[in-house]
Formats: sequence, C-alpha cells, structure tokens
Amino acid sequence: MYDLAIIGGGPGGYVAGIRGAQNNLKVLLIEKDNVGGTCLNRGCIPTKSLIYDSRLFHSAKTSTILNGADSLAVDTSKLLERKRKVVKTLVGGLGAILKSNKIEVVQGKGSLQAPGKVSVEKADGSKADYEAKNVILANGSKPSVPPFIKVDGKFVQTTDEALDTQEVPENVIIIGGGVIGIEMATIYSNLGAQVTIVELLDDVLTTEDPDVRKTMRNMLKQRKVDVHLKAKAKEITVEKDEVKVVFEGADGKVQERMTQRVLVATGRAPVLDGVDAEKLGLAMEGPFVKVNGQLQTNLPGVFAIGDLVGGMMLAHKASAEAEIVVDCILGHKKSLKPELVPRCIWGLTEIGAVGLNEDEAKASGRKIKIGKFSYSSSGAAQAMGEVEGFAKVIGDAEIGEILGVHIMGAHATDLVSEAVTAMKMEGAVEDLYEAIKPHPTVSETLLEAALDWNKLAVHSPKKA
Ligand code: FAD
Repeated sequence: MYDLAIIGGGPGGYVAGIRGAQNNLKVLLIEKDNVGGTCLNRGCIPTKSLIYDSRLFHSAKTSTILNGADSLAVDTSKLLERKRKVVKTLVGGLGAILKSNKIEVVQGKGSLQAPGKVSVEKADGSKADYEAKNVILANGSKPSVPPFIKVDGKFVQTTDEALDTQEVPENVIIIGGGVIGIEMATIYSNLGAQVTIVELLDDVLTTEDPDVRKTMRNMLKQRKVDVHLKAKAKEITVEKDEVKVVFEGADGKVQERMTQRVLVATGRAPVLDGVDAEKLGLAMEGPFVKVNGQLQTNLPGVFAIGDLVGGMMLAHKASAEAEIVVDCILGHKKSLKPELVPRCIWGLTEIGAVGLNEDEAKASGRKIKIGKFSYSSSGAAQAMGEVEGFAKVIGDAEIGEILGVHIMGAHATDLVSEAVTAMKMEGAVEDLYEAIKPHPTVSETLLEAALDWNKLAVHSPKKA
C-alpha cells in the first residue's frame, strides 16, 4: 500500500512526488511518457531554448557593430540538437532526483479505478494494480484544436510537432494570438520567417495589462508581423506543398491565403486518459476536474492538480498546487492565492506580470494609483541596447497595497519575482523602492516605477 499514487509526471505530479517523499510518504509515480511532462518535453523548456537561440541570431543579424552580420545564417539542425540536449539533460536529472528520493516510477498509462485504486497498462501490454491511501490526478493538458482543423504534423502543426521540426518555413500563419501564439511568432520571426497571426478576440495576449498589449502590438507591427484581430479562421486545407487558410476579417471580408505552414495555437484541453469521470462519479467543471481550495475532488482521497483543473495553465501553478496537496495529506490546510501567481511570456521582449492588470484594478472599485517607468530611461537597458518596455506598478491609492506589477522588457520574467515576494510579504509600494537596487540593472526600472507611484522617480522628468 502506497501513501500516495500520482498519475502524471509533469511539474504538478513530480513535485508532489518529491515533496511527499521528503515527508516520508511512500510514493508511486505513473508516467506514460518522459518525466517532466509538457513543460520539460514539449512546452516551457523547448520554447525557451529556441527563443534564446533565435534571439541570439536576430540580435547578431541586426547588430550595428558586427561586420558581415547580414550574411549570417542559422544551422537549424544545431538549433534543434541543442534543444534536444537541454531537454535530455533535464529529464535525466529529474529521473535521478526521483530515484534519490526513492520514488517508484512506473512507465505506462495509469487509470483511476476507484478511490485508492489505480492500475497501469505498460508498454509491453502487461497490467498492474496498485493501492494507495491518496491519489493525485496530474494528467496535464494537450493542444485543443478546433474540429474543422486537421493537424497533419507537417504542414499543419501544433507546438507538439513544431518544436521538433528542423525546417523553418519562409512564411507561417499562426491561428491564435495568446501566449503560445506570441512565443511561437517570436521564434519564427527571429529566424526570418514572415509571420501572420489570426486571432479571434479583439487583441493579442488578452489577459495582460492594456499597456503590455499595446506595446506588444507595436512591436509586432515593427517586426512586420501581420496581425489580424477579430478574425475567424474558417477553413484550413493542405494543397500539394502548401496550406490554404481562409479567414473572415474584422470587416466581415473573407480572405484566402496560401502559406508554407500553419501553427494551431488555439489553447489547451485537459487530458482525461485513464480518468473516466462518468464511471467514477468524478465531478467536473466544464472540461476540467472540479476541485476545492485544497485541490480535493469529490472522491475521497483523490486530488487533482495542474492543467487538469484549469485556471492559469502554468508550470509553477501546477507545482504550487502539488505542495498544497501534500500539505493537505499531512494535515495542514493551505490554499493557492491566484493573485500571487506570476505570469511570464517570452515574446519579442519578455513580459513578467503578477496580480491585477489596470482594467481589473479599476473594475475592482478600489481607488488606484499607477507608477510607470520606461526601459529607455534605464542606464542598464540603454547599455544592453534593450530600450523597449516599461515597469508598471498598480497600488491602492489609500493604503499603498501592491495590487499588480507589469514589467515588459529584458529580464522581465526574472524581475517580476521581486514583486511577487513583496506581495507575498504583504509589502506596500514603498517597500519596492525602499529596498536598495544594484546599479546598473533593469531592477532599477521597478524601483523607479514604484517611486513614480509617489511622484518621486529620479530618472524621469518631474511630473506636474
Ligand atoms: P503536464 O506537464 O502536461 O504533465 C502531465 C503528464 O501526465 C504528462 O507527462 C503526460 O504524459 C502524463 N499523463 C497524462 N495522462 C496519463 C496517464 N493516464 N498515465 C500516465 N501518465 C499520464 N508554463 C510556464 O509556467 N512557463 C512557460 O514558459 C510555459 N511555456 C509553455 C510553452 C508551451 C508550448 C506549452 C504547450 C506550455 C507551456 N507552459 C508554460 C505550460 C506548462 O507546460 C503547463 O502548465 C504544465 O506543464 C502543466 O503541468 P502539469 O503537471 O499539470 O501537466
């Protein structure tokens, strides 16, 4: 009998396993593929490896100090090779960590048979049954593809295929301008492809702050990325070696385009492999497994975490939920505070955000004040040649509570952690500037934005 059986070895499942083992629980981890899940194998890490390398190429190619920069070319086989090596290293390292924690990892497709009972179908066709006091469902998610689109993996791809394809197309149409669409547009554009985005909603990155969205739109325009908002893809057909894409634009006009590649980035759907909700009597909330604040399902001793339960589909959210479940099993009641879950996007520049955006803060009915500071006024950003972007602090005008922080520019995804820590410690806007920042770093943009909140910014002209 195990204390804990986990189905799915992504950042939700494996973190739950390690935290459980550290607390002396006997843990079984069932994974049908490689440990590390979507994040490590097909998501966060592969995209970032390709984004960093493609960014290096684009920076070199557009450099004003390198002679012959124009003739530089990317060796796409090496690009892919490095990405594969990064993933292999991390998957191998994770395997060793799981082993060192004496977690039993079983390779195969896990199914929940009943509370406390799981079975595994192994690759060789054999089956095994296990019993556990607690079960965590951490099956994750997969690309959600509209029914009229047929993914063939070559001309019409999701990120599952695209991140493992060596050929960079000359032109690509991306269906969807959310986080994944923007990150993939960044990779393709950095590598020299002509990118078109077809987005159904009225903006890209719709959950982000209006200033972030506006800046991203401008950056895409400068890069000559052809963005169609309020545009509905209607038909995607492979014709010989090209793809025909038919979409209706915001003006109601139907357009037809031919392209070498289509990337479908229309969101993610939960994986319910081995979880027969109806048979089990498992309560659902739309397509996701329904859970309470401690990630308990309606079935006794059965928890669900990560992308499977929806909300922010992010690796660190899945891992934070894993910790809450293990705490719950150990008798401590904790819960996730969504307002403290940072968001990070590696677009044409980085975006790090936490808490409310300006629209949400206004809608909350609180009296708010905003401080902002441009990257172009930062010595560090100028020295790096990364002058696009800003830091923005939204605080309660009366008590100074930090309600949201939005940073766009170089290192923004790292920098936002500072705001998360301040908010976790219930710090006020003043705390963001009373803590001294090293010079010259882009962390000073956050300090100046917080100072600006009190009209005290040093490196920008005095405001009326
Ligand atoms: P997953 O990581 O999906 O893991 C679930 C695991 O369960 C998988 O390994 C799967 O094989 C296994 N599984 C499923 N069913 C069974 C079964 N029946 N039996 C056995 N095993 C099973 N998030 C970020 O925070 N930062 C990023 O930069 C980022 N970039 C992304 C880029 C892309 C292209 C994509 C697609 C996602 C990205 N994400 C990012 C999201 C992140 O990958 C997910 O939020 C995260 O992986 C969810 O973790 P999880 O543990 O819930 O599920």
